[in-house]
Amino acid sequence: MNNKRFYITTPIYYPSANFHIGHCYTTIVADALARYKRLDGYDVFFQTGTDEHGLKIETKAKEAGVTPKEYVDKIIENAKDLWEALEISYDFFIRTTDDYHVRRVQEIFKKLYDKGDIYKGEYKGLYCVPCESFWTESQLVDGKCPDCGREVKEVSEEAYFFKLSKYQKQLEDYYEANPDFISPVARKNEMLNNFIRPGLEDLCVSRTSFTWGIPVTFDPKHVIYVWVDALSNYITSLGYPEESELYNKYWPADLHLVGKEIVRFHTIIWPALLLALEVPLPKKVFGHGWLIVNGGKISKSLGNYTDPRDYIKSYGVDAVRYFALREVPFGSDGVFSEEALILRTNADLCNNLGNLVSRTIQMAIKYFDGNIENKNIEEDIDNDLIYSTSHLKEITDKKMEELKVNEALEEIFDVLRKCNKYIDDSTPWILAKDDSKKDRLETVLYNLLESIRVCATLLQAYIPDTSKKIFASLKIDVNNFDDIDKKVERYELGLEKPANLFERIKEN
Ligand SMILES: [Zn+2]
Repeated sequence: MNNKRFYITTPIYYPSANFHIGHCYTTIVADALARYKRLDGYDVFFQTGTDEHGLKIETKAKEAGVTPKEYVDKIIENAKDLWEALEISYDFFIRTTDDYHVRRVQEIFKKLYDKGDIYKGEYKGLYCVPCESFWTESQLVDGKCPDCGREVKEVSEEAYFFKLSKYQKQLEDYYEANPDFISPVARKNEMLNNFIRPGLEDLCVSRTSFTWGIPVTFDPKHVIYVWVDALSNYITSLGYPEESELYNKYWPADLHLVGKEIVRFHTIIWPALLLALEVPLPKKVFGHGWLIVNGGKISKSLGNYTDPRDYIKSYGVDAVRYFALREVPFGSDGVFSEEALILRTNADLCNNLGNLVSRTIQMAIKYFDGNIENKNIEEDIDNDLIYSTSHLKEITDKKMEELKVNEALEEIFDVLRKCNKYIDDSTPWILAKDDSKKDRLETVLYNLLESIRVCATLLQAYIPDTSKKIFASLKIDVNNFDDIDKKVERYELGLEKPANLFERIKEN
């Protein structure tokens, strides 16, 4: 039985409005990681979903004159359509309004209450409605919500609390024993120094001031407030706390991919809940940066919202995927703009990749009627390309393991750049004029086709459509990464001129 398993999650997004390019970024990165593992022979469970309860949705639905469920249903339909357009290969989409989730969250809440880790008290706090977050005085920035900069208001009500403070020491010990738990490491230090060491306060986990949530079974005027509801999604989807094959197979998760603004929830609250439940902790939480538009967060009210499908329609799905994966350095922020997307597409996808494939195939057709095999007439200038190609998978493995997706792509495109340079250096058009150089010319073209094949095989994780087109042009079948080492004996390309992979986009 295959014991290479990989459970990867995106955050469950809050469907208060249709999703923007920032949601797409996280989801595309998760998709590339999931695809890479699948191609590498792993049994992958890739989960995404939506966190659908809370006051903000209740308020938005009221404004729209619909029920909260009707309100979110529409947004989820839109989100699923967007993920399809982006070719997101998720295995499971969880909605926190799903029956099984509601039931299992209620069981989890009861379990924690019975254990004494949830107790009743009174909550007084400063609350940001749009973010659904309580803040302490010291966390406010200029008296306002540190996440969104909006006004907070003081709220007081009867509430249940989770004994987060009880787990402070255990969390510190866990961080110590598992240095890879939080990535990048700067975020780990931030959590320790800013939140854990100054002392954890117990956490409000129920509300009575709104009704759009999962009722507490033993005290139904309370609805479960965000944490136990939302964070549990990563295990309720697998069947927890019921006896379940999926749960036994995939938990603990290998990777929770989250935006940097919710690292705190995933590396303090979530592990503390799991410690209380005596459930193993996830192996890694990666807090990535944002894809920023116009220097800030994206929202309709800021007027910088564009439906991501508009970009797909204009430039193709792989241009959007490539940009998201390539433009944001590991753990930092990247800037999204249409101009930058066009420049990237032209430079990397059109010039570097697209032109290389079409030039190579056209030369193979022109000089050899599309039939190419390795004539083994080697020269020193071949070495660099052959070496880089044969070691590429090793390098991308390492980069992907470190979650440096942009650098993995850079490495692949570096080999493609070497192919283009190899054409300039080996000068096939000069070799073609000399009959005695015919075998050398065929060797050169063979080396190029092999490098293109290897790059396209790896690119399936990032820009799958483009890979498929390249395989079709090369008239080869490629499945997973096992095929990388299987050299093609003889390319039979036919005589048809290949279609352009990417049309050059007009730059302003
Ligand atoms: Zn806020």
